[in-house]
Amino acid sequence: MFCRIVAHTAPATIHYEDADIVAFDAEPAATALHVLVVPRRHIRSVAELADTELAGRLVLVASRIAAEARAKSFRLATNSGAPLQDVFHLHWHVMADGAMGHPAGIAFSRPPQES
Ligand SMILES: [Zn+2]
Repeated sequence: MFCRIVAHTAPATIHYEDADIVAFDAEPAATALHVLVVPRRHIRSVAELADTELAGRLVLVASRIAAEARAKSFRLATNSGAPLQDVFHLHWHVMADGAMGHPAGIAFSRPPQES
């Protein structure tokens, strides 16, 4: 799915893109601000991310999106491996709203999904 979004063959609200990275609205959004930052290259998860420069740029793009949204407080998160990870194309979540707790999501109740 994310490979199709970065190739513009699936619809998404794009916030940022360059030669290596695309950021778009999560659908459905879990929080008031919920943007996904993904590499164009298909990398399954952060566990398979070996490119140091790309790793850094993904985080900087995510942080910039939070700044542009004027989020005073925000969270960057990525899940690796089932069952936490739902789409097996590396993605950072940029999330902010007034009701987020700390620490991040300790409850996990989503049913298994088809891959
Ligand atoms: Zn992909």
